Amino acid sequence: MSVSPLTVAHQQLDAVLPALQPLFSASDQSRLTAAIELLKKPQRFHETTLEITGDDGSTKSFRAFRSQHNDARGPFKGGIRFHQQVSEDEVQALSTWMTWKTAVVDLPLGGGKGGIIVDPKTLSSNELQKLSRAYAEWLADKIGPQQDIPAPDVNTNGEIMSWMLDAYEKKVGLHAPGTYTGKPLELGGSVGRTEATGQGGAFILQHHAERLGWKPAETTVAVQGFGNVGMWFARLAHGFGFKIVAVSDSSGGIYNADGLDPQQLETWKQEMGSFQKIAAEKNITFVAADEFVGVQADVLAPAALENAITADNVSQIVAHTVLELANGPTTPEAEAILVKNNVIVIPDVLANAGGVTVSYYEWVQNLSGDQWNAERVENSLRDKMLTAYDSIADWQERLEVSYRQAAYILAVKRVIDAMFLRGWV
Ligand code: NAD
Repeated sequence: MSVSPLTVAHQQLDAVLPALQPLFSASDQSRLTAAIELLKKPQRFHETTLEITGDDGSTKSFRAFRSQHNDARGPFKGGIRFHQQVSEDEVQALSTWMTWKTAVVDLPLGGGKGGIIVDPKTLSSNELQKLSRAYAEWLADKIGPQQDIPAPDVNTNGEIMSWMLDAYEKKVGLHAPGTYTGKPLELGGSVGRTEATGQGGAFILQHHAERLGWKPAETTVAVQGFGNVGMWFARLAHGFGFKIVAVSDSSGGIYNADGLDPQQLETWKQEMGSFQKIAAEKNITFVAADEFVGVQADVLAPAALENAITADNVSQIVAHTVLELANGPTTPEAEAILVKNNVIVIPDVLANAGGVTVSYYEWVQNLSGDQWNAERVENSLRDKMLTAYDSIADWQERLEVSYRQAAYILAVKRVIDAMFLRGWV
């Protein structure tokens, strides 16, 4: 039976409480418990039914949500998801995780998330624009550059952010590009945003290898999922000298112990469509999708969907490090087994935080009217990611906990410190 993501988010908070208690004074213990309870609910949760006129003249209705989880450290920040499985619980859980992600990388932002229950494939482009505008108009008095800053998430993109920004600006009568991030460059987007998540992951891999004394050329890496995140990660990690030995998509994967060239793979993927076809045409070893997590590699980087590593397949894993580029790729049960087997799991809240970090740089550029070049974005991203990794590695060593627990201790403590200072508890 699958567990609700909100239940998981609550369990994670309960699990971090005993580790936090020794970090607060005796007189603050009851405030700490109260803060943990407050953090189980979003500060504000908005929901509505949006109506648009379809191309055939009929009225179409959609449930829509925005969860504003916590803004103790700065404006709410988080994407908008268009998916048929969006639910109140899911949006609340995702907004909670955004609070931890922005805190882990120490951005002056909080956590939020939005969603519409819709299968966007069933809408025409005209209907999709109407729905995006209707959502942005409904949300206009609840968000803004100093309040809540949405961004793309599953099935939303720069084009949708452009429509939403336009609807917002028309409604408030101001130019305010810092209200939405993930915009095209022409409307105030940032260079480096497209590759940011994969790039952040590659910086973490490089730093992690250095810390463990691994030489890149001798470190083999398997990447599950070759979309935006997986493809950029593979390309940049290869550029840092790591040996990418396996990659996959939903059709399955390919494996070559001597290494693969990600840019060559991108060309083949465009020509042939799937890794299954590439394996057949180029005579490379094929790995079935459900066996991919077990490929022979030092590092396994899941960059596809949630629940890729479960209690059912965790015994196949031979990697020493799992680098969570996707959101929630490892179930709690599977992680417990990995940790017991001394496999390091670098958690999603750190490993894929490069995306929100460059979104933050986009917001900073919009607020200052400045434009950064690629070098500035890249150097700033590297600094942020490595500082966060070092802080987590410190807590991990000091408290002898997993990297995920260390990341949660760091993030939840930062948020609670801000709540205390504001006098919320
Ligand atoms: P995407 O849609 O561009 O790519 C996903 C890839 O996964 C596709 O290549 C797809 O074929 C593949 N895939 C699907 N099922 C698979 C399976 N069973 N085995 C192997 N591959 C499979 O999505 P993306 O933007 O690259 O996001 C990937 C993950 O990273 C998601 O979990 C997303 O939430 C997370 N993430 C993305 C960003 C970002 O900036 N794009 C930021 C943070 C987290």
